Amino acid sequence: MTLLEEPLKEPFSVRNYINGEWLEPTGQLAEITNPATCKTIGRVPISTSEDVEEAVEAAKNAYPEWRRTPPLARARCLFRLKELMEQHFEELSRIQTMEHGKTIDESRGETRRGIENVEVATGIPSLMMGQNLEDVASGIDEYLIRQPLGVFGIICPYNFPFMVPLWFAPYAVATGNCIVIKPSSEDPISQTKVAELVEEAGIPPGVWNIVNGGRDVVSSMLDSPDITGICFVGSTPVAKNVIYRRCGETGKRVIAQAGAKNFIVVMPDAHREKTIGACMTSFYGNAGQRCLSGANLLLVGQGQSEGERDAFYKRFSDAFAAAASKIRVGYGLDESVQMGPLRDAEKKQRVLKFIEKGVEEGAKLTLDGRNIHLTGDWPQTCFLNPTVFEDVTPDMAIGREEIFGPVANIMTAPNLDKAIEMIHSSRFGNAASIFTSNGKWAREFQYRVMCGNIGINIGINAPMAFFPFSGMKESFFGTLHGQGQEVIRFFTESKVVIQRWF
Ligand code: NAD
Repeated sequence: MTLLEEPLKEPFSVRNYINGEWLEPTGQLAEITNPATCKTIGRVPISTSEDVEEAVEAAKNAYPEWRRTPPLARARCLFRLKELMEQHFEELSRIQTMEHGKTIDESRGETRRGIENVEVATGIPSLMMGQNLEDVASGIDEYLIRQPLGVFGIICPYNFPFMVPLWFAPYAVATGNCIVIKPSSEDPISQTKVAELVEEAGIPPGVWNIVNGGRDVVSSMLDSPDITGICFVGSTPVAKNVIYRRCGETGKRVIAQAGAKNFIVVMPDAHREKTIGACMTSFYGNAGQRCLSGANLLLVGQGQSEGERDAFYKRFSDAFAAAASKIRVGYGLDESVQMGPLRDAEKKQRVLKFIEKGVEEGAKLTLDGRNIHLTGDWPQTCFLNPTVFEDVTPDMAIGREEIFGPVANIMTAPNLDKAIEMIHSSRFGNAASIFTSNGKWAREFQYRVMCGNIGINIGINAPMAFFPFSGMKESFFGTLHGQGQEVIRFFTESKVVIQRWF
């Protein structure tokens, strides 16, 4: 076993970045641990409402000048930021592995996806353009301009500490707004590193601020009369009951991307090996801590006799469990490792409870990830191995709730109609995939399934930066989504001007 060099040698002191200054923490601190080694790798301030007020004030003061900065000049800052991110690509990736636990390949993928958002936002001069029509009446022209709105808050989850804030931040500043980011306090180092590069890229003080902490920071952001809108990514209860509700009360714009329970449908004509290969990444990538991960594997025996169907279900389930059992679990800085730990012991406990519940409810545990075997000698505190249940139904807790861990639930359905009905019984609508070589089934699936992200012969990854990150039902609260053209609209107001020529 060879480990890549750790970029954080000493415990890292996370600071708030407000008005272009790095502020020493004054209050309470929380420890950041590497979930694979259980060593302390840093400390993060748990900031107060005063810190939020200071950051919002800085953003508010920076706004008039920043919005007057030509879009191309704003884009140049982002070009520099992109270059700096490329130069620090490996360091940024290894930090994600250390603070979150994901494998280095997953971290590199996350860094790439984050940078792509910065790249897309550099196109702001054309992305932000308005519309114009002359002679709407005799001698009268009418045009639409898009204007920034002021200060936005960005509140982030723990599972993609580098990428998620970048679904919003580059577009917010490219359109001329100023931002206050609250990273997850569980893995905030990545965003501190990004802010260091923001400073080096010459983005002016006050435009891009970071306030670390927990609920108090979120509450202060939601209550601040000077914050125009909130971008939130996190769990459904917080998205729905805290963020969306409070933004409605205070009249803020809101994007609230939330939890998920995604189905992967396998038709009998799917290519077995390739489908299983894709499923391994989908179900066990990021140790299952992805809003786009597979959760329920739905085997559909359409067009087969009963005997053939049973044989297909068994062949596929056995091959799936065999592949899952071979996944190498360990510290993600070992490049041979394919799955890392859960983010912390509490999250592991939550997954363990679901496994117990699954057994109690009568699902068949065909691969028990509680039997932990690791590549390398690491404390087992946050680790689980891949788990597979069979005979699961959508109404069981494991089939219904977001587990957010490396657990696959195998279900069966006689045909695609029944499979779609089962998908629609979920209160979530984030993503669903189908594996088939039949175009009609694929079209039917894409057309009918009420989820924001659809995969055809692919497990789902975050949509490319130039497409919106969609979501339906209890997976999304708001109207416009993160990324792409939609987020440009979110960060701007259209103003219509009508002009008569004398
Ligand atoms: P979380 O909801 O616990 O936390 C998200 C953010 O909200 C954090 O910054 C946290 O400090 C803050 N927060 C938590 N509880 C709060 C409360 N009661 N009041 C105010 N603020 C609060 O989510 P998490 O555990 O960090 O992330 C995992 C969740 O995020 C999963 O449900 C996952 O599906 C979801 N997620 C969704 C997407 C998407 O695009 N739909 C992407 C990534 C993650």
